[in-house]
Order: sequence, then structure tokens, then C-alpha cells
Amino acid sequence: MNKSIGTLFIISAPSGAGKTSLVKALIETTGDVCVSVSHTTRPQRPGEQDGVNYHFVSVEQFQQMLNQSAFLESANVFGNYYGTSQQWVEQQLTNGIDVILEIDWQGAQQVRELLPDAMSIFILPPSKAALQDRLEKRGQDDDGVINKRMAAAVDEMTHHVEYDYLVVNDDFDQALQQLQAIVIASRQQLTKQQMRHQQLLTELLS
Ligand code: 5GP
Repeated sequence: MNKSIGTLFIISAPSGAGKTSLVKALIETTGDVCVSVSHTTRPQRPGEQDGVNYHFVSVEQFQQMLNQSAFLESANVFGNYYGTSQQWVEQQLTNGIDVILEIDWQGAQQVRELLPDAMSIFILPPSKAALQDRLEKRGQDDDGVINKRMAAAVDEMTHHVEYDYLVVNDDFDQALQQLQAIVIASRQQLTKQQMRHQQLLTELLS
């Protein structure tokens, strides 16, 4: 992928940390930033829309996309496949739109390897009890799945050290402000600003 004006943000968190709600609010309150809709083989949950929350595909379709190198990254999470469309992400970044990838630590490692300029953010819950509570209140999974996700959450959180930023989602509005600050500050990086303001710099320095 070539250098682009848009910035790629990786956001990871254990399920139940409030990542999806925070990302939704971030996009609603900040211009020129969008979220990548992943492809997944996991079953659609009640309330989820195909093409909005995920592109729900069969294992065969996913495998076909893998074979065609259509994914920027992909991973098996809780027994289901997830992947990010390379073409879509590339297009947004080239158009100067920032892109958020809501992906797990495995995908984050792959993206960092390919695109070292990507900024990564890890979201933590304020406590283990809060995490369990949020998972139960979602009412989307049965007890077995919740227990599996609690154990996986601890495993996921051990990877926080690989990220550039750490946000604790205790107070939603405060966590949102912190995410907004990261996005806005990243846009002012020298190389991005040089690309955006080529003409201005030429004029000022002549
Ligand atoms: P859920 O099925 O609960 O929506 O997501 C389960 C996990 O898969 C979350 O940690 C989420 O961040 C991760 N995930 C969602 N989409 C992708 C993706 O495209 N790639 C990777 N690597 N992980 C993803």
C-alpha cells in the first residue's frame, strides 16, 4: 500500500469493553473517518444487519476471498473467521478518509507488519466485574459462550502492550473524548500535513 493522507487506526478490546459503541460515537462525532465492515463466517446475531455490522459469508466464500488475497488481514476468533477487505480500506485511505479497523490482536499484528504507520488503540474495561456484567447484559450469547469470552478477554488483554494508546472505558464520554483526541492529533503528523499542504508549504518557503 502506498503512503496515503488518510490514517489507519486499529482498535482492539476484549468483547464487552464497549468498543463498538465507542467507535460508533466516534464516527458520528468526527468527520472524515469511517469504520471498515469486516467479512465473517460467524452467524448473524439478532439486530445485526448484513453489510452494516458485518458482511456475513459462508466458510467457502471466505476461503475463496483468502485465496484471492482479498484480505488485508484475517484471523480465526472464537472458531469463526474474520477478515478486512484490502481494496475497500485502500480506497478510503487514498481518498484522505481515516479508517478504523475493529479487529483482534492477531489481525492487529498482521496490519502493523504490513503498515507500520497504522496507529493502534487498545480499550480496557474499568474492571473484570464490569466486563462480565456487560457481556451478560448484551443477552446475545448463552452462558457457555460468555464464560469462553471471559477467559478469552484476559488473553486478549495481555496484548495491550503491543498498542500505541491505551483507553480505559470507565466513563463513556471521557473515553470518547480520548479517542477523538487521538484521531485529531494523528492528523497533524508532519508527513500527513506535508501531503495535505504541499501548495501552502511551497508558497511559504519560497
Ligand atoms: P464479534 O463476533 O463479537 O463481533 O467479534 C469478535 C472478535 O472478532 C472481536 O475481538 C472483534 O474485534 C474481532 N473482529 C471483528 N472483525 C474482525 C476482522 O475483520 N479481523 C480480525 N482479525 N478480527 C475481527
